[in-house]
Amino acid sequence: MIAFEEAKQQIDAHLPAPRHEQVALADALGRVLAEDVRAHRDHPPWDNTAVDGFAVRAADTAGAGTDTPVTLEVIETIPAGAMPSKTVGPGQASRIMTGAPVPPGADAVVMVEDTTQSGAKVAIGEAAAPAENIRPRGEDVTAGQVVLFAGTTMKPAHLGMAASLGRSQLMVTRRLTVAILSTGDEIAEIDEPLSEEKILNVNSHALAAQVVEAGAIPLRLGIAKDTPEAVGAGIQAGLSADVLIISGGVSMGDFDFVKDVMAELGGGLGFWKVRIKPARPLAFGLIGQVPTFGLPGNPVSSMVSFELFVRPFLRRAMGHRVTDRPMVDARLTEDVPKRAGRRFFLRAVVAREEDGYTCRTTGPQGSGMLTSMVLADGLIDLPEDAEGPIRAGTRVRVHLL
Ligand code: AMP
Ligand code: MG
Repeated sequence: MIAFEEAKQQIDAHLPAPRHEQVALADALGRVLAEDVRAHRDHPPWDNTAVDGFAVRAADTAGAGTDTPVTLEVIETIPAGAMPSKTVGPGQASRIMTGAPVPPGADAVVMVEDTTQSGAKVAIGEAAAPAENIRPRGEDVTAGQVVLFAGTTMKPAHLGMAASLGRSQLMVTRRLTVAILSTGDEIAEIDEPLSEEKILNVNSHALAAQVVEAGAIPLRLGIAKDTPEAVGAGIQAGLSADVLIISGGVSMGDFDFVKDVMAELGGGLGFWKVRIKPARPLAFGLIGQVPTFGLPGNPVSSMVSFELFVRPFLRRAMGHRVTDRPMVDARLTEDVPKRAGRRFFLRAVVAREEDGYTCRTTGPQGSGMLTSMVLADGLIDLPEDAEGPIRAGTRVRVHLL
């Protein structure tokens, strides 16, 4: 048996380098930027007004107040979307709308609320300081500046910024395709007629959803029978994908052929018993160029091992900097049994209380009990050497799902 971290290291040694593709801006959400994006002009491109009001020479408004207004001559109106055509001279003002360029000569804008206009005259009821209510050219971004860096996971603000820079297309890392093969003579598809000895295929669907959630593209290959030939044919079908996941058949049963077939087809196969619970058996290796994971068949083990091994692998291979789930310390609200020798990942209900997070298990933790996963919004991570029971009140580490 090997430790969790050791298994992860061996898997990470086979990380493929991210590949790139150009996508439309709208499709870049959640993707990893594969280029530095520079501003081609200042933003804003000119000094502009932050308010509706009057562009003035600040010196002209000295001493202005509600009872001591200063009267100026209005020489033009500048809507947003127009350039000023006149220079504001002494004793003059231009009526101006939010976002419009500040006219030459003016060095401040007085809010419309502090003014009274009658015809070509405006009474200014408030003194303005130089630069007041002016957003200077380039205050947000200057020409040539790198505004979005390669490696950024694109969020809505990043898309907005790319739009402000006129980028309708962006270079991002490619999404990986992930083939998913279920194995087991007892497994049937949900739309097949169900005979007594069969159970329905959970893992293909849960894993496909996990792949989507990780930002990759699932390809469901169906179910292979428990024979070396059927498993081999299934694996061959999966080699057109970037990554292959096989569920089931990696334990010690008479019909668990997956690890043998993987070893035969691939080089440098690792088959490990990992010192974790659930999901102890795990096979991993390259078949051709395709990193291939053999995950245990129990639905909970399958999902948890995807979460622990496959998800971080996929995300790193797509260039994400952050590949692990957010982790918090939480206070256990119940006693939890624990044996030393394996790291436990318990399905947990996490809550936010006034004094921090609390957690409890979702109930019985059998690896065939999908209910334990259905209720979970976190995984309690108990170290290998911890000897139970872990008492209520203990602070434990929780991965937020
Ligand atoms: P295995 O890893 O093949 O020994 O399977 C372990 C357990 O998981 C057995 O009880 C299987 O019936 C079950 N199992 C395997 N594959 C699936 C699947 N795709 N959907 C639901 N249960 C499965
Ligand atoms: Mg099986």
